[in-house]
Amino acid sequence: MIKAVYPGSFDPVTLGHLDIIKRASKVVDELIIGVLINHAKKTPMFTLQERVELLKEATKDFPNVTVKMFDGMTVEFARENDAHLIIRGLRAVTDFEVEMQIAQTNHSIDPNIDTMFFTTSLEYAFLSSTIVKEVGYYGADISKFVPKNVEEAFRKKFPRRHE
Ligand code: ADP
Repeated sequence: MIKAVYPGSFDPVTLGHLDIIKRASKVVDELIIGVLINHAKKTPMFTLQERVELLKEATKDFPNVTVKMFDGMTVEFARENDAHLIIRGLRAVTDFEVEMQIAQTNHSIDPNIDTMFFTTSLEYAFLSSTIVKEVGYYGADISKFVPKNVEEAFRKKFPRRHE
């Protein structure tokens, strides 16, 4: 029985994330998505509750995928869920350096926990939540980047930009 956690901010979930979720859920028995409660990065555009709900809706057809929120260290979240594997997505070389640092740190904190990387599918290689937020805020068509429910969430959040 292989259990894995997939941690992130998911502010909001994109088709790039969903691609990783879809592929990872095929190689593990159970995939638990962990939505970070606090992030040093910056204030999120979507609240924790919104991010969790959007993810739940977008992954409802994957029977072995669940969504939880977590605070603190990813290794701790993995341990609490009895998972020995952390899933991360890799886009460009720029992701590589940071992700390698995180993975090595996590492994030295708990040698029982390993990180598995999925390289992005080419069509999502340029895609990030940050980019989606920037263009989505101005009412641009983001249907190629995010699932339907996220598109809808932007329309609700910024109605005047979508007139
Ligand atoms: P974080 O704030 O921890 O980077 P994100 O929500 O931005 O969280 O991303 C979560 C994970 O998904 C990270 O491993 C990131 O590299 C990966 N990811 C994000 N966008 C994509 C994409 N377009 N293709 C593949 N992986 C991605």
